[in-house]
Amino acid sequence: MVIMDINERKQLADLLFPNIKHNRDYYEQKYPERKLKDGAMVTRYGPSPTGSVHLGNLFSAFCDMVYAKQSDGKFILRIEDTDQKRAVADGIDNITGVLKGFNILPNEGYTYGGEYGPYLQSERTEIYQTYVKDLIVQGYAYPCFMTEEEIASIKEEQEINKTKIGIYGYYAVDRDLSLEEVKEKLNNKEEYVIRLKSPGNAKKEIEIIDAIKGKMKFPEYDMDMVLLKKDGTPTYHLAHVIDDHLMHTTHVIRGDEWVSSLPLHIQLFEILGFNRPQYAHIAPITIKDSETGTIRKISKRKDLWAGAKYYEEVGIPIEALHLYLATIANTNFEEWYLNNQNKKIEDFEFSFNKQAIGGTSFDEAKLNNICKTYFSRKSGEEVYNETLKYTEKFDKEYHKLLIENKEKMIKFLNIEKDGDRPRKDISKYSDVKEEFSYALDELFIQENYQKYDGDKIYDINLVTDYIENYLNLDLNNETWFSEIKEFAVKNGYASSPKEYKNNKESFKGHVGDICEALRVIITGRTKSPDLFSIMKILGKETIINRINLYKKYINNC
Ligand code: GLU
Repeated sequence: MVIMDINERKQLADLLFPNIKHNRDYYEQKYPERKLKDGAMVTRYGPSPTGSVHLGNLFSAFCDMVYAKQSDGKFILRIEDTDQKRAVADGIDNITGVLKGFNILPNEGYTYGGEYGPYLQSERTEIYQTYVKDLIVQGYAYPCFMTEEEIASIKEEQEINKTKIGIYGYYAVDRDLSLEEVKEKLNNKEEYVIRLKSPGNAKKEIEIIDAIKGKMKFPEYDMDMVLLKKDGTPTYHLAHVIDDHLMHTTHVIRGDEWVSSLPLHIQLFEILGFNRPQYAHIAPITIKDSETGTIRKISKRKDLWAGAKYYEEVGIPIEALHLYLATIANTNFEEWYLNNQNKKIEDFEFSFNKQAIGGTSFDEAKLNNICKTYFSRKSGEEVYNETLKYTEKFDKEYHKLLIENKEKMIKFLNIEKDGDRPRKDISKYSDVKEEFSYALDELFIQENYQKYDGDKIYDINLVTDYIENYLNLDLNNETWFSEIKEFAVKNGYASSPKEYKNNKESFKGHVGDICEALRVIITGRTKSPDLFSIMKILGKETIINRINLYKKYINNC
């Protein structure tokens, strides 16, 4: 075993990195401490452009955003494109496009600019190599010339011996090459990677406090992990440690699939002499598999709603999706939101100790519910305007109808909006067309009672008589209802369900049955917002046309 002295290590470093002109101090000065107020969090979203963006990615970026925002900190977008083999075409544009589209906007980073760039890891190779050069001098890194075959045969041997798989200790054969041996291999143009010369001892334990998961214990890291690949580019492990140091990240919020790499990352921070950021490992979004019944991570392949595009296409408002992500982020958010009529996400204080530790399962009902609450708090005009933006892209025909019927549609969307319990029927923009299809003749005539799922045939004569001879659309709601009660009584119906229930033989039905007949004939469904408001907006002529339409419908039944 040969141990190089400091001079030899310096020579080795120069030999391996002849093009590296700067030293660490240059970068330490170039990227000074940020001037932020106490407690400001610097977070970063570090996506790899290896596929399309899914809900889990959005969730992670959302967390980065809210923690930075609420503490007057910075939220950085750093593209981690070190794995060129797995990179997909348009991967980077897709990431920036989706973040913009979902209003998850970094303060700094790739395409956003800032003083701590470049924010594309592939443009930072020189920085990584500068620090690795220094690690060589310190004796914490070395060139490893092992071939793929040699590594595979070591693995085989380890499998047979049932020992830990990897390059470490006895198996790290190039750890202690002499300078002469290295020179010879370099002269022979042997390919090499740079490995960490791990100072760890797996018999010792380290303790780490994660902001979400709390105290965790691990054996010390003792593998000679690759730091720089054959082409001189870094592995994720090295790159993120250097970047988070130089960008002054205070909180690394990332998926908990990285927990197992934490001992390595801790060791890298130590040997590089960097202060460590606070790690916060977030639980993945899970789902109960409909086929197997087991809980699994969401999958873009199997779960339609897992892809970010889905939300835009079905018309889930960005703000409502943020509300849903907030409910996943902090277990106390949903209750807070439901109990605070006039508050927005910005008013809520997120905290890591309210973040779920295990997987959070995707809950469609919860998403729907939160979307309904979102819509219920918007005025008819706001819903109209937002829906217009959606239809412009996804439903051109309906878009045209909406524009032509602006005032009327706003009136419909405003029904049952005042009061303590505003209407909660819409959970996405595409619902407006479905829920209010009776609002416009163009849609209703096409729909033609398809939504009616009962089997009753309503009394057309009774309804016609009421509409033609009794209906007064100038009344207010209460007077209207007392008048329809009178009409009911005159025609042998009870004036309330209770009265009817107590004496069924004496009545044909009760006032509610007449309202039901009107509702079905006018709207084509048994449930709708306030009937009299609908009638007022539609007007008598349209109502009479609907009765005629209904006549034709039952004649064809
Ligand atoms: N590039 C890593 C990934 O896409 C990022 C992990 C991190 O945030 O540090 O999983």
